[in-house]
Amino acid sequence: MAIRHFDVAVLGGGAAGCPVAWFLARAGLRVCVVEPGVAGGGGASSMTGGIVRAYDPDPALMQLSLRGVSLFAEWERHGLPGPSPLKRTGFHYLVAPENIEAAAAGAQWLEEKGYPVMRRLPASCLQELPFLRPDHPAPLALHEPMGGHGNARLTCQQLVRSLVDMGGTVLENAGSDIRLERAPHGWNIVLPHGTLRASIAVVAAGQATRDYLPQLPVFVRSIPLVRMQGATVTPLVDECNQTYFVPAGDGTFFCGSKCNTDLPHAAPVTDLPAVSRAMVEDARMRAAGVLHAGISPQPLGAIAGYDLYSANLRPQIGFAAEGLFTLAAFSGRGFKYCLAAGEAAANLVCEALGRTAPYAHACSLDAVAPQSCQPELEHA
Ligand SMILES: Cc1cc2nc3c(=O)[nH]c(=O)nc-3n(C[C@H](O)[C@H](O)[C@H](O)COP(=O)(O)OP(=O)(O)OC[C@H]3O[C@@H](n4cnc5c(N)ncnc54)[C@H](O)[C@@H]3O)c2cc1C
Repeated sequence: MAIRHFDVAVLGGGAAGCPVAWFLARAGLRVCVVEPGVAGGGGASSMTGGIVRAYDPDPALMQLSLRGVSLFAEWERHGLPGPSPLKRTGFHYLVAPENIEAAAAGAQWLEEKGYPVMRRLPASCLQELPFLRPDHPAPLALHEPMGGHGNARLTCQQLVRSLVDMGGTVLENAGSDIRLERAPHGWNIVLPHGTLRASIAVVAAGQATRDYLPQLPVFVRSIPLVRMQGATVTPLVDECNQTYFVPAGDGTFFCGSKCNTDLPHAAPVTDLPAVSRAMVEDARMRAAGVLHAGISPQPLGAIAGYDLYSANLRPQIGFAAEGLFTLAAFSGRGFKYCLAAGEAAANLVCEALGRTAPYAHACSLDAVAPQSCQPELEHA
């Protein structure tokens, strides 16, 4: 029987893979998503708190994030499918004293692009943030009214459902025994019970990207996230207490801990330490540093989150070898720019297939191009 041929096969149905697959299908390409489990249900995308914001201390990420917020916040206008998975609650970034100049410059850049950012003193934010300690030490708070928090699972599911409606193929529950082999004019994607062929393979497999591209300079870092009860919050990042809050329902919120562990290069994620009492206590202390004295945050549970990182914390997006594109190392900040990355990546993939880049407003990916590396052709 003839092997089914696609223009593009996307390996991985997380926040990196689903947007690029959708933007490619929308541009008229024959696309297949291959996912071991369920789109949005595996890896970091199943664990994220999902803060969506434009300000980022790294200018390259700020550019991607700005486009990312615009796509999330103006979802219908951009023709994205279904209701927006973003809750536009607003977002606050509490700046540490040593970063005040960089933050002010970043806010100015965003304002020049027409994106509203208010520069305020934390004490003047107490009406929107009644849970905040009035004597918070940050000298500056950046308030983004268009920011908020989104649901990564829903985002992935809406995109793959729409991709199928556009004639694309989604192979969920494909199992983790997925091999990539060079084929004439492209790649064979060898599954336990069948083989597909694609002109271009896009590897967006989260931590498993290391198996396909072992030379990609990336590593896995744990990101514990602790669910607290005690306050109804809006999303924030606090540089002074080195933490972040994401709303998790009435009277509860997620709080980031700084007890991170980096895995040795090829170690499996099962080697990451389980959530410990020390991690939970670390998050509780950080939360207490943000909240006013009348609130005593109590841990309710924890997520042993992890994600793929590069040394400069930037994602690795681009062709890693001929016909082999990767969207990897999205780090603990990847959800906010996943749509922008997918849109821009779709342009590069279309051009490689001899087509015109379809998305005129997409970002440049020059600052996040991956180092060229040899793929592992027989990944199992
Ligand atoms: C606890 C936590 C909190 C976070 N909070 C935020 C936040 O507030 N804001 C923000 O912007 N970002 C946040 N992030 C980061 C964000 O969630 C990630 O950057 C993003 O989800 C990464 O998406 P991904 O598709 O690259 O990887 P993943 O989500 O890991 O997806 C990879 C996919 O590949 C599949 N796969 C596995 N093996 C294979 C294989 N062999 N072949 C093919 N596919 C395979 C997996 O099943 C999975 O579906 C957070 C992350 C964590 C862990």
